Amino acid sequence: FWQDVPLAPPDSIFKLTAAYNTDSYPKKVNLGVGAYRDNDGKPWVLPVVKKATEKLLSDPLYNHEYLPITGLPEFTSAAAKLILGPDSSAIADGRVASAQTISGTGACHLAALFLIKFYGFNGPKHVFLSNPTWVNHHALFKNVGITPVEYPYYDPHTFGLDLQGFKTALENAPPRSVILMHPCAHNPTGVDPTREQWKELAEVIIAKHHYAFFDCAYQGFASGDLDNDAWAVRYFVEKKVPMLVCQSFAKNAGLYGERVGALHIISPGQDTAHRVKSQLSVLQRSEISTPPMHGAKLMALILNDKELFEEWKRDIKTMAHRIISMREELYRLLTEGFETPGSWDHITRQIGMFSFTGLNAAQSQAMNDKAHVYMTTNGRISMAGLNTSNVRYVAESVDKAVRG
Ligand code: PMP
Repeated sequence: FWQDVPLAPPDSIFKLTAAYNTDSYPKKVNLGVGAYRDNDGKPWVLPVVKKATEKLLSDPLYNHEYLPITGLPEFTSAAAKLILGPDSSAIADGRVASAQTISGTGACHLAALFLIKFYGFNGPKHVFLSNPTWVNHHALFKNVGITPVEYPYYDPHTFGLDLQGFKTALENAPPRSVILMHPCAHNPTGVDPTREQWKELAEVIIAKHHYAFFDCAYQGFASGDLDNDAWAVRYFVEKKVPMLVCQSFAKNAGLYGERVGALHIISPGQDTAHRVKSQLSVLQRSEISTPPMHGAKLMALILNDKELFEEWKRDIKTMAHRIISMREELYRLLTEGFETPGSWDHITRQIGMFSFTGLNAAQSQAMNDKAHVYMTTNGRISMAGLNTSNVRYVAESVDKAVRG
């Protein structure tokens, strides 16, 4: 029994964290994990989340009943408003079908499942993913029978966007292809299109009748401003691009383990949206029956209470601005400080939790092995792992790795 089951390799990020945890070197740094850390390198419970938790648990009627299949309505409606905008015409017209999901991963999974079941694929069942993208995208689509194909995204020469390559791939893709995009704080590169570039991309997507699949895991984390980070999504809605949005509250509310997310599918009309929602409900029922409650209740409280919402926005700014200041400090140390060979302005140009440093596999490995600075071998570092106590050591280690 099960003799033929092959041993799977451990997940590379979780493996990195395990190696970090067992390392006794005093200056060790973990730049692998995609979770926010405060300036002491500790996980941060957002003050607004603490407040909302106290409020929630002090309610004598708080219980552990099941939520409806598509989730807590006060949460999903507020979540839709957060990403699509409070004055979204799609919401006003009743064109948005929302379901609460197991964080962003669950949103992507439910969306993939919905697509395989109901999207009229034009030929092979493909999804176009940026090269590179969050590695889990590949596995998640394959699991439901959709084959990932890649479009050029990151230009290793400029450490920026390969706009032309991206546009050409969109032009060459069969009409009505499904295109997955990160609306802000692209993981793993930290490279986002500018508004002008989004407009150019939308133009091709509209001309080719492609389907936009937005995976938004970092709203607010990129710029510190929730509306600013939702710009691309709202622009595509305004342009009436057929689309869906996956949404996660793991990073922007620090609710990683609570698994709070949502999927929003935008339809051309209210009647279609109603039918779409009914099918999301059927799929959800067979997958997880009903979604988890605690985190959704917390977010519903925060999103629907004016004061708590304002406090959340301040907490987001605290996280985003700490990361931005670490980018600036790392850049300053590499340039003025250590005068490290190469150009480093991409460190401050890139956005959000991650940075593609440009370190190659051997240099990244040297960071792990020699400096005890844990990072993935594609050169990605989590900016959230930097703080005022370790940034100098990290810069010095990068300098040594580059000089070889
Ligand atoms: N999409 C992207 C691009 C991500 O980076 C992540 C988190 N690493 C997710 C989705 C999903 O995260 P979660 O399921 O924790 O919300």
